[in-house]
Amino acid sequence: MKRTKINDLLKSTDFGSTVCVKGWVRTRRSGKAVSFIALNDGSTIKNVQIVADAAVFDSELLKQITTGSCLSVIGKMVESPGSGQSVEVQAEQIEILGTCAEDYPMQKKGQSFEYMRTHAHMRLRTNTFGAVFRIRHNLAYAIHKYFHEHGFFYFHTPIITASDCEGAGQMFQVTTQNLYTLKKDEEGKIDYSDDFFGKPTSLTVSGQLEGELGATALGAIYTFGPTFRAENSNTPRHLAEFWMIEPEIAFYDIHDNMDLAEDFIKYCVKWALEHCADDLEFLNKMIDKSLLERLHFVVEHDFVRLTYTEGIQILEEAVANGHKFEFPVHWGTDLASEHERYLVEEHFKRPVILTDYPKEIKAFYMKMNEDGKTVRAMDVLFPQIGEIIGGSEREESYDKLKARIDELQIPMKDMWWYLDTRRFGTCPHSGFGLGFERLVLFVTGMQNIRDVIPFPRTPKTADF
Ligand code: ATP
Ligand code: MN
Repeated sequence: MKRTKINDLLKSTDFGSTVCVKGWVRTRRSGKAVSFIALNDGSTIKNVQIVADAAVFDSELLKQITTGSCLSVIGKMVESPGSGQSVEVQAEQIEILGTCAEDYPMQKKGQSFEYMRTHAHMRLRTNTFGAVFRIRHNLAYAIHKYFHEHGFFYFHTPIITASDCEGAGQMFQVTTQNLYTLKKDEEGKIDYSDDFFGKPTSLTVSGQLEGELGATALGAIYTFGPTFRAENSNTPRHLAEFWMIEPEIAFYDIHDNMDLAEDFIKYCVKWALEHCADDLEFLNKMIDKSLLERLHFVVEHDFVRLTYTEGIQILEEAVANGHKFEFPVHWGTDLASEHERYLVEEHFKRPVILTDYPKEIKAFYMKMNEDGKTVRAMDVLFPQIGEIIGGSEREESYDKLKARIDELQIPMKDMWWYLDTRRFGTCPHSGFGLGFERLVLFVTGMQNIRDVIPFPRTPKTADF
């Protein structure tokens, strides 16, 4: 018999019909006459109640139906007399597809997230992680839908790269060399001639540079792929392996870029509100009571736009008025998450786009302002998260870009192709990078980025 997903079953009003449901047991309550089994198949946060009559089923079979076991149930779909669900299944046949060993790690309710991280292979079966990963999927879908509908092309940039000048973070090296017998030259430098690519290669920290090649040919592209940073930052907002979305658009200046970022992110949040209502309601109840309010707020309000210099003035005033930050703040410093969150959560009480950062703390490819001191960078700062997007208008002038590269002594020998965009029909263009997990963090209200990717990679952890 064809299986009905629980999500579809709970919406059905075909009472009296015979259905087949399959899933994992969340709980079983047994009375003398009947057992009530809460079954979940992952299609929705909701369980369906299976009613098993003790007169129909062998007590030995019922005993094996424990939390975590997997069942296939055929029975009659009836209106549920109890509160909560409208539908339940009066079991006629129960097949145990898989019993569950006693040491099932998700047995108890209310386990800590730390505990669940050490059992990340099984935490997927919990309500919270089910909700998080259904929302994650929906956001990924919304992202593709948004860009497709706005005429952007999904552009695949390489994961293995030979350019090491992006400066976005420490890179993971890629090699097939035997590390015990590394070939070195007379000066003791590693000889890469025998290595797979014949030169040093790494995992990408950003697809942007190749994205610019796409944008200056196809007009508007976006990437959506894995990104790797070996930065040793053990924070609730950094992963060593994360997914990034990077739109890059020809003929966009920084204002177009900000408009896009704001519209895009609002679209994603709205999509989640419309398509993940059950999961969001659950998270709002269990994880963060102000989640829904925050999501609606972001969708309904304009983001504040101001310059880095103005932002620093506000932060300096806060310090003068007695606000304590862990890290010092003055013109020229990179903002720490606490500073970003002060601007967003305490000062403006809405998302903020900061622009025109000092050139020293931003990447070489950003367009220089007239003042010669700041660049046309933009960071989108969000409540709870801090930086969710980093982007800029790109320097389109060959001479200015080359001068900046020389000034910073960036090794450009493998980057001639990037400079070629500025030699062959250069154009103004802009783009940004959105950290997918930071978006998922924001939308789910989860506190730690390790809990919004199925199998997180962070310093000293690469399990599962
Ligand atoms: P941060 O200052 O928070 O470390 P960044 O300035 O290094 O971030 P960018 O290079 O601008 O980040 O990358 C673009 C986006 O990618 C960021 O706005 C953020 O959303 C996301 N991101 C960056 N590093 C990480 C990371 N280690 N883990 C998860 N997301 C990240
Ligand atoms: Mn950034």
